[in-house]
Amino acid sequence: MAETAGEEALKPGATIGILGGGQLGRMLANAAAELGFRTHIFCPDPDSPAFDVAAHATIADYDDEAALKAFAEAVDVVTYEFENIDVAAAELLAAHGKVRPGPRALAVAQDRLTEKDFLSQIGVPVGAYRPVASEAELAAALKEIGAPAILKTRRFGYDGKGQARIEAPEEAGEAFAAIGGAPAILEVLVPFAREVSVIGVRGLAGASAVYDVTENVHRHHILHTSSAPAAIAPQTAEAARQIAVSVMDALDYVGVIGVEFFVLGEGAGERLLVNEIAPRVHNSGHWTQDGCTCSQFQNHIRAVAGWPLGTTERHSDAVMTNLIGEETGQWAQLAGEAGACLHLYGKREMRPGRKMGHVTRLSPLRPAR
Ligand code: AMP
Repeated sequence: MAETAGEEALKPGATIGILGGGQLGRMLANAAAELGFRTHIFCPDPDSPAFDVAAHATIADYDDEAALKAFAEAVDVVTYEFENIDVAAAELLAAHGKVRPGPRALAVAQDRLTEKDFLSQIGVPVGAYRPVASEAELAAALKEIGAPAILKTRRFGYDGKGQARIEAPEEAGEAFAAIGGAPAILEVLVPFAREVSVIGVRGLAGASAVYDVTENVHRHHILHTSSAPAAIAPQTAEAARQIAVSVMDALDYVGVIGVEFFVLGEGAGERLLVNEIAPRVHNSGHWTQDGCTCSQFQNHIRAVAGWPLGTTERHSDAVMTNLIGEETGQWAQLAGEAGACLHLYGKREMRPGRKMGHVTRLSPLRPAR
């Protein structure tokens, strides 16, 4: 029998609070509106694109306790679009209402060392890594892991920020200085053949579903394209989907998660390592808006609202391309391209490297390889 919305389910008309006002918050708010919910965006920047599409706004800093408390009391559930929210703020919100996904997922995902330790503990394969808190520890870690390697700050790194590549042990001092001597981890440079990701969703009662594996290409450390399905062997795809489910179960997760993988080797010799997890809707899942009946955004809203999950089935093959910085100037041409699904984020200011929109191109379904 199909699952129905349980007693705890929010009713249409309820208000979903979203921490963060970027494009992810905006697309979550749009998806919430489709199901009859209102949204309340909490973000310090008054120019945030999510404010344009939400019913209520709080413009305040993420450490403003009075504003956080008032926000938690004004909404029926709180969710978030980015993982660098202070865990103390998430706990304060949780004390005054519901926060989904819960603070534990944030604590795990926002510290690269905690994240890698957690993944190893639950038996998920990751590349070799070592904690690094000083130059001496870095030298020792390099001896163990070997070069080339990547030094990454434990916290607040994204899109390649807070990272330094080390080709040879002599470069250790320079790399440690480049990341500001912050607490870090050293990771072996994985000689991957491809990068793929899985977008998963888990509901309040523990049911989960995963979308087809996506293949991702980065340019200058920023996601350029995501293609579904990934050109990997079926058993590799199934293993990646299973890993996403194990991660969600281990965190008793509610909502959408992005799990990023490196694929080593080819065909029957393929092997997976997890790079990182994102406790939120993910750029590599934007293709689901147009390639699936129920997008990652709607599924996140369904999960945090306590609704049954929507299908994660793909009805078309899809290639999503980010529009970064001045690439957004192509909007007029893209608007005229038959079959191109254009999504613009309404950001007031264009800056180099800034995600301004994306376009998804569909083609008839090919079965996953
Ligand atoms: P991250 O910020 O960890 O997602 O890293 C951004 C990108 O840098 C990844 O998508 C990879 O392309 C590359 N990268 C990060 N860590 C490694 C690694 N250990 N080995 C090889 N490439 C990496």
